[in-house]
Amino acid sequence: MSNIETKCVQSGYTPENGEPRVLPIYQSTTYKYDSSEHLGELFDLTAPGHMYTRISNPTVECVENKIADLEGGVGAICVSSGQAANMFAVLNIASAGDNFVSLTTIYGGTTNLFGVTLKRMGVEVRFAEPSFTDEQIEALIDENTRCIFGETIANPSLDVLDIERFAKLAHKYEIPLIVDNTFATPVNCRPFEFGADVVTHSTTKYMDGHACVVGGVIVDSGNFNWAGKKFPMFTEPDESYHGVVYTESFGKLAYITKARVQLLRDIGATPAPMSAFLLNLGLETLHLRVERHCENALKVAKFLKDNDKIAWVHYPDLDGDSENERAKNIFPKALAV
Ligand SMILES: *Cc1c(COP(=O)(O)O)cnc(C)c1O
Repeated sequence: MSNIETKCVQSGYTPENGEPRVLPIYQSTTYKYDSSEHLGELFDLTAPGHMYTRISNPTVECVENKIADLEGGVGAICVSSGQAANMFAVLNIASAGDNFVSLTTIYGGTTNLFGVTLKRMGVEVRFAEPSFTDEQIEALIDENTRCIFGETIANPSLDVLDIERFAKLAHKYEIPLIVDNTFATPVNCRPFEFGADVVTHSTTKYMDGHACVVGGVIVDSGNFNWAGKKFPMFTEPDESYHGVVYTESFGKLAYITKARVQLLRDIGATPAPMSAFLLNLGLETLHLRVERHCENALKVAKFLKDNDKIAWVHYPDLDGDSENERAKNIFPKALAV
């Protein structure tokens, strides 16, 4: 299964002979086991399976697998909002005393989350303008810097992130690049193909697409090496799981597994199974809607550009737009419509 269109419809849930054609809603908090030994293995993370819906659920899992496949990642966790996704993406690798670099061209809610709430928790954001030189960005990075964060297409400024450049900068310092891909969606851009390590979304926007459910998702590329000395939380035993070492037990899934079993367990920003079902319905038409959105937006942009009462128009797909070169590079398919 290779086309993104096919993945939107088919990925994540594959019914066996005689099973429901439509993704079932497992509206259940808890699960049934034949032995207490099996439940013990689930608690120790030595057997796969569901133990409590705050941490995982079969309906939610299918949607996570679909989105991981759309982005080309190894795993994903759905959370209750885009805000929760970006908070978890950073808190999974940063503790009080650490810092991270974020582009200034991000969603206002994320600016507050980083500048107000994470700051109160002792995690310091260092804002960088996209126009900064490499030297100016590197001057913000020290031994306690844990990631670089940006948005593929910034909400609302529509700046287009030079993903390759920021991935290269991050990797030079052995830290990951986290990209909020909400506006582009994996139909237009898959940031892992340009070197990003972790992708987040507010699924509230295009992924749901019907304005009916707030949600978020974090996707792991599986490419970042967490065994470096900057990330001891992956290589030292987690006493809250009987000494599990995430890089040893979960390999390429270390980041996303830790986010699930620590942050969903402790903070509980869990999506409802019904919300995951609605999100999945939205995802089934994502490829059709995004294509039409791009077509319509370009028509509006051109109309406004030709109107002498309009002072300026900024849209990445317009010829001559400041973002047009980068947009052509990372959204080749969108701009071919
Ligand atoms: C809306 C949005 C968010 C926050 O998502 P919620 O689902 O509203 O919590 C984060 N990032 C971007 C780019 C957004 O547009």
